[in-house]
Amino acid sequence: MVSTFVPEPHLLDSPRGREWPRLPAPPSPTRAASPAPGADVVIVGAGPAGLAVASALWHHGVTDVAVVDRTGRPCGRFFDRIDRLGQRVLRSPYEHHPGVEGFRDCELLDFARLHWDRLTPTERREIRMSQAGHRSVVPVDVFDAYCAHLVATHHVGEKTWQAAVREVEPEPGAVTVRTERFSVAARHVVLCLGEERRPAPESWWGGGRPPSGVSYWDEPVPRGGGRQIVVGAGLTAAHLIGNALAAGREVHWVIREPGERFQCADVNSAFFRPEGRARFDRVGWGERLRLMGQFRRASIMFEFRPMLERAEAEGRLVVHRGETVTRVSGGARVHLAGGRVLGGDLAVLALGTTPSIGTGLLPPELVGERDGWPSLDERTLAYEREPRVSVVGAAAGMALGPAARNIDGHRVATARVAAAIAAQLRHGTVAPQRVVARV
Ligand SMILES: Cc1cc2nc3c(=O)[nH]c(=O)nc-3n(C[C@H](O)[C@H](O)[C@H](O)COP(=O)(O)OP(=O)(O)OC[C@H]3O[C@@H](n4cnc5c(N)ncnc54)[C@H](O)[C@@H]3O)c2cc1C
Repeated sequence: MVSTFVPEPHLLDSPRGREWPRLPAPPSPTRAASPAPGADVVIVGAGPAGLAVASALWHHGVTDVAVVDRTGRPCGRFFDRIDRLGQRVLRSPYEHHPGVEGFRDCELLDFARLHWDRLTPTERREIRMSQAGHRSVVPVDVFDAYCAHLVATHHVGEKTWQAAVREVEPEPGAVTVRTERFSVAARHVVLCLGEERRPAPESWWGGGRPPSGVSYWDEPVPRGGGRQIVVGAGLTAAHLIGNALAAGREVHWVIREPGERFQCADVNSAFFRPEGRARFDRVGWGERLRLMGQFRRASIMFEFRPMLERAEAEGRLVVHRGETVTRVSGGARVHLAGGRVLGGDLAVLALGTTPSIGTGLLPPELVGERDGWPSLDERTLAYEREPRVSVVGAAAGMALGPAARNIDGHRVATARVAAAIAAQLRHGTVAPQRVVARV
């Protein structure tokens, strides 16, 4: 018998901003402070990927580490983006967490169970679901508190410096990481840069800042009623629509595909498992590109479906399926390929993200960009042409598969990168293959 998956919209609503007990930790450096001029490892980017790398290195006994991030806060951009969208639960389940592979640590599920008395009945049920091996929904609040726990227990806060890295320059004795305020000479550098929002095609308004009344998903949306146009087909678009409907707006939603896609995770779950990664490992560059195209498509959590269907049936949401945007002009006017023009009070673009692969920081010949991806040594995730610089996160997509951009992919990448760096610092050699094969 085939059972039907019943999405429960109330799973999307976990409280945000609860007080969690915090472990005492040394204060983070002030915004004006600078790190020592040299370090064993510099991690650029303190998102979930950078946090995973810093935590893993701590377990390997590598403590001379500086983490440099524009926001200066571990996972700062991640939670800023999530809170801007009003997202209350993660899309990834309890098993996906930035904890460290191969070392004893408090995992996300353990952490949630330790704080049982703070959780709602729905949140407790999701823990039971995870324990029973089913898909589970993780509150952003729990994930935030867990990240703070990792920061405190692995001494990451006091090593995190606020600055924008402008250049990563490999030199004979060290790799110099230059920011607008200071430089650090490192023996190894790990780029955990995440992804930037995908800009609109130049043809839409000629490039640069959007015209009046038009903004991107990661910018503040003005308050007020009226009509809002949302362009994009992913979870970000779904959050924007949910917020606009809640604010009493009429929403017009433009999707290029013939219809919206609903899926639990943003990547087919097979790619989170070793057999899924092996499927990717066995094939060449062309087939990998095809798989990335096929499996990194926009989709929405099932839990949104009842809300979207109801709003459409009631006429509060008008969905323009299979429509291509050709131009966007001032006053939130969205021009469609067939010649129709949608007019609104504001238009918000949620066109996805593009991996930051080190272009603009490293010399282009070292990035070795091909089809938008860097040339990496798959064993260590270091650049093929600069083994002292490696990547964790979305940039490792062509080595690890579509899940590289997700929290679970970071854990797999981190295990490789941290083991390789620790071995090189200890013995001057790359980690033995055995360590790599375990993940
Ligand atoms: C709204 C939203 C929700 C998501 N939800 C999930 C989810 O539930 N589960 C999941 O697995 N994935 C989710 N993702 C995917 C998500 O992007 C990743 O899991 C996670 O953010 C990636 O972590 P990261 O550390 O690679 O990137 P980020 O979190 O983006 O961190 C990168 C950091 O590097 C910094 N940085 C970049 N360049 C520089 C520079 N030159 N100098 C200094 N600092 C720099 C940035 O400021 C940023 O703080 C979500 C993404 C978004 C946008």
